[in-house]
Amino acid sequence: MGRLVMKFGGTSVANIDRIRNVARHVKREVDAGHDVAVVVSAMSGKTNELVDWCRDASPLHDAREYDAVVASGEQVTSGLLAIVLQGIGIQARSWQGWQIPIKTSDAHASARILEIDGTEIMNRFADRKEVAVIAGFQGINPQNNRITTLGRGGSDTSAVAIAAAIRADRCDIYTDVDGVYTTDPRVVPKARRLDKIAFEDMLELASLGAKVLQVRSVELGMVHNMPVFVRSSFDKPEDIDPHGTPPGTLICSEEEIMESHVVTGIAFTKDEAQISLRQIEDKPGVAAAIFGPLADANINVDMIVQNVSEDGKTTDLTFTVPASDYNRARDTITSSKAKIGYVRLDSATDVSKVSVIGSGMRSHAGVAAKAFKALSERNINIRAITTSEIKFSVLIDAAYTELAVRTLHTLYGLDQA
Ligand code: ASP
Ligand code: MG
Repeated sequence: MGRLVMKFGGTSVANIDRIRNVARHVKREVDAGHDVAVVVSAMSGKTNELVDWCRDASPLHDAREYDAVVASGEQVTSGLLAIVLQGIGIQARSWQGWQIPIKTSDAHASARILEIDGTEIMNRFADRKEVAVIAGFQGINPQNNRITTLGRGGSDTSAVAIAAAIRADRCDIYTDVDGVYTTDPRVVPKARRLDKIAFEDMLELASLGAKVLQVRSVELGMVHNMPVFVRSSFDKPEDIDPHGTPPGTLICSEEEIMESHVVTGIAFTKDEAQISLRQIEDKPGVAAAIFGPLADANINVDMIVQNVSEDGKTTDLTFTVPASDYNRARDTITSSKAKIGYVRLDSATDVSKVSVIGSGMRSHAGVAAKAFKALSERNINIRAITTSEIKFSVLIDAAYTELAVRTLHTLYGLDQA
């Protein structure tokens, strides 16, 4: 007997029929003797609709009221699943974030979980074998007792945090894909499902564009060393052996992974914009003059490349920002033009960032060099490069994204046989 968190995303609870399917998955685990806490998202599309309603009501709305509105999607699905579970003879009770409580920071609309009291849920496991059906994505700000939400995709984070709080053996994330792939299978049909992936690699994959899990949830999994299993909710509940190993990907600590490749996966994002400042005066304080105002404007700068100045007088500097912040970033820079002292600003929004990830890179030299050669053989021009211990990224023209991803996927031996 064990203790499980089962998290179901929006497509898995999209309608009553799908919710019945979820209930059968839950029943399977309950029948196998496990204590179960279920975490649900809102029905697919629901949160978008609620967000749109807030914008329609007023473009500049109060974040506390936004939270009151958008948290409602999960309130609906948690109640519905509890009803359906009861209907098939399983003790179940729904829980909103404030009822547990899931205490969060006061950053309404993007709050962080601070503390979860799992006592009552664990008591009910012991006393009545009751399944807890918990609304994901939401918590409560203890300073004002108001509902908070955790940022889009936040129910993954709810699930992992709850798993840690109730000391679960594992957190199962049921979703519309059957695991984590070496890259997006829609782009590379030869992408392979990974049986296991280390928290660190998954954290990079998720941060760099893979959309399987919210980044925060992976961080939490790593901090609490909570194994997270990504699996499909479309498999028929009755076909699954609760004691066997179903298809899926286990995100776990590095020590638990025996066979490892140098490169684990390739991520990409087209939501990048590039800004290049030409002929900046090469003197101390210039970088501060550029990046200080961007930081003040809350704009995340990602890649930064500065060229060596030949004459010791001027240099070029290139950096990237999220495409959604591009206009603001450009305005911020042009309004400090006099202080920075550049001659020209060039920019490109049709760029994408392709990233190669693998903790094996720590102990292998020349991994990135191979990629640069392979890309040049395909005539793909690299606009900027960043590297860290376990990943490197290249910025390229968006039109070449697919070609670059496929080329690198083959290069690093990730293609499925
Ligand atoms: N329903 C929320 C969203 O769409 C939370 C989640 O599904 O993870 O962002
Ligand atoms: Mg999600």
